[in-house]
Amino acid sequence: MSASLATVSYLGATILFILCLGGLSNQETARRGNLYGMIGMTIAVLATVFGPRVATLGLPWIVGAMVIGGAIGVYLARVVKMTQMPELVAFMHSLVGLAACLVGFASYIDTSIAFTGAEKAIHEIEIYVGILIGAVTFSGSVIAFGKLSGKIGGKPMLLPGRHFINLIGLLIVIYFGYAFLHAETVDAGMLPLIVMTVVALLFGIHMVMAIGGADMPVVVSMLNSYSGWAAAATGFMLSNDLLIVTGALVGSSGAILSYIMCSAMNRNFISVIAGGFGSDGGSPAPKAAGAAAEPVGEVSPILAAETAEMLRDAKNVVIVPGYGMAVAQAQHTVFEITSYLREKGVNVRFAIHPVAGRMPGHMNVLLAEAKVPYDIVMEMDEINEDFPETDVVMVIGANDIVNPAAQEDPASPIAGMPVLEVWKARTSIVMKRSMASGYAGVDNPLFYKDNNRMLFGDAKKMLDEVLVSLKA
Ligand code: NDP
Repeated sequence: MSASLATVSYLGATILFILCLGGLSNQETARRGNLYGMIGMTIAVLATVFGPRVATLGLPWIVGAMVIGGAIGVYLARVVKMTQMPELVAFMHSLVGLAACLVGFASYIDTSIAFTGAEKAIHEIEIYVGILIGAVTFSGSVIAFGKLSGKIGGKPMLLPGRHFINLIGLLIVIYFGYAFLHAETVDAGMLPLIVMTVVALLFGIHMVMAIGGADMPVVVSMLNSYSGWAAAATGFMLSNDLLIVTGALVGSSGAILSYIMCSAMNRNFISVIAGGFGSDGGSPAPKAAGAAAEPVGEVSPILAAETAEMLRDAKNVVIVPGYGMAVAQAQHTVFEITSYLREKGVNVRFAIHPVAGRMPGHMNVLLAEAKVPYDIVMEMDEINEDFPETDVVMVIGANDIVNPAAQEDPASPIAGMPVLEVWKARTSIVMKRSMASGYAGVDNPLFYKDNNRMLFGDAKKMLDEVLVSLKA
């Protein structure tokens, strides 16, 4: 392939990547967006592998690696459960980080292109920064993978003087960066490069170990952003424009996503990075949380048959899905109940909190998979005002996103987080297996409200029973 054809192909791939991101911003166009991304990536890979910079001798190596990597990727994509997606994404980010490190070392050792003067300095800065970001991304993502998959505990590890330790690490990186840029030979530059890599790896481990379970999905999105910048740095090292643009797209979209997630949880981005918030998800609510008020009162259980009766008598029903619906894979039964009620003239809508589940858009994906029409799936801001006019709200495996303590208790760890105001409806029915807390590990006063009922059990099992009663 000629150099100009490769350039045109890169340009086409870049446009397709931008169209892909645009498409993914809306669920109606997401499928098309994905398709653009796939076509763009195919063009990019073909233009690179058969482009002017790959010698024929290298082709069997590249194709062999692609077959092995592709087979592993296909296998993982087929076996991964939707709820395990964040840990798979974290694992993939670690590979991007590792690739940036390896390319950085390879570019430094490769002396076939001799740079001099300012060009040499720029090339070496690219290598140093690329390896730095790559190493932080690699080790941080490995720890994030460990935490999300439960192999490492979710509790934040807070070393005494941890900010001071990070500062020392930064100073070491700057000092050795100076030594690296002033090294006369490759051999002399290798020691500062290796020391910096070790410090960056330790920093990545320390940074993510200090972050609690509740903030982990934000960290995954942040590491996504880092992996993009690592790829962009690799693009600079290899003078590959497509890698620079793609890396910048991933880097900036990851940063925007992290910001959106922080706003939806009322968390400050800096305090997420600084760590310390959140406990193991699903544990009983912490009793020693200081001044946070503990809910008082009794909970009122309800049976599936009674739930069905309430739904049948209602005019307006809102369904709030959460992480538990994903775990129970109850979305198809939810769809059947929705269709049945709509046929009977009940106005059924869905209320989606921006951080429901364990990743952005988690609920939208599940509902789309179950073929729930898009026009009855509402964002939090679109539906929050409608709860006072709602007869029944069905909360399916959601907890933190409907916790009134966020508004009512300034001492609550989630105080200020925007939530779905389901307690304003005539009746709310919460479907979950026990009184256990949600991801943030805080108690939920909603369960004790007079107009709330608890339908205890696995969401899928209970919804099946509700459906049977509805149709009886
Ligand atoms: P939560 O984690 O707050 O609650 C989920 C509830 O589902 C649990 O209390 C659990 O209770 C219940 N549950 C689990 N399995 C089942 C089952 N098989 N059947 C029925 N119920 C079940 O989830 P939410 O969706 O309400 O909130 C999401 C949380 O994740 C928030 O804290 C959010 O900040 C956090 N988060 C989400 C992000 C995202 O992008 N979506 C990003 C960052 C954080 P029980 O064990 O009693 O059944």
